[in-house]
Amino acid sequence: MSDGTASFPEACDHCGTALEEEVRYPTATVSEDDGDVSIFTFCDEACKEGWLDDRSGDPR
Ligand SMILES: [Zn+2]
Repeated sequence: MSDGTASFPEACDHCGTALEEEVRYPTATVSEDDGDVSIFTFCDEACKEGWLDDRSGDPR
């Protein structure tokens, strides 16, 4: 699966850093209440954990 670039994310979902196609980045899969599944991609593990903190730590 190296020639399919259909839905490759262009930027980190947390900080917006541009992503490169050849690099494997950490991802998070989230199941929405309506059954949809969203996949988020991050520039590195630290950024992914910061994103997780934002999701669970924001009381709004
Ligand atoms: Zn990032």
